[in-house]
Amino acid sequence: MEMQYFKVDAGEGAGGNQAVMVPLNQRALVPTSPERARRLRRHLIASLRAMRTMKDPKGSVSPLRPEPDEFVGKVARAACTVCKGWCCKGGGDHAYLDGRVMARVRNARTELDARAVMRLYVERVPAAGYEGSCVFHGAEGCTLDRSLRSDVCNSYFCSGLGNYVKGDTTSTGVVVIAGEGAEVRMSPVLTP
Ligand code: SF4
Ligand code: SF4
Repeated sequence: MEMQYFKVDAGEGAGGNQAVMVPLNQRALVPTSPERARRLRRHLIASLRAMRTMKDPKGSVSPLRPEPDEFVGKVARAACTVCKGWCCKGGGDHAYLDGRVMARVRNARTELDARAVMRLYVERVPAAGYEGSCVFHGAEGCTLDRSLRSDVCNSYFCSGLGNYVKGDTTSTGVVVIAGEGAEVRMSPVLTP
């Protein structure tokens, strides 16, 4: 479903629907420097090395958690879209990738050697990304699919979204309100 988002005055409410309050990424989009890609490459090499020296390679594989189900998943996706990835600021040039994630990717794609796994990631670095955010944080959001992301990325919810996901999700009308400072964005009313 194509989502449209509206800028609203901070005082405007959710019109009787359940409001899910999340932060808002207001960073600027800038070209990704070659240094960032180089730092990522170095991090991937170290992660692949760490994978090879793991004591319990099978037991240490990073889990691949599914998205929340149905309507809750729809609200979560809408929230992260309207927020534009505020929490990705911690991803730096490492994106929380480590030997455990490399083990998951290698196990799932046995036809790929270490070089091909590196390519898989490096090719996904966007030409432009949010200044000071994760190296994979492009204009359209994260450029990695869930199978390539760390478990940190696949399981993290900010407090506003986490409260909704773990709380009462029986509401049939939800509005996401993303805001920080003067700028606020709001989703349309989300229904099951
Ligand atoms: S988890 Fe919260 S802060 Fe992170 S992208 Fe989603 S809505 Fe934004
Ligand atoms: S890998 Fe994706 S989800 Fe994880 S911090 Fe980077 S941009 Fe965000």
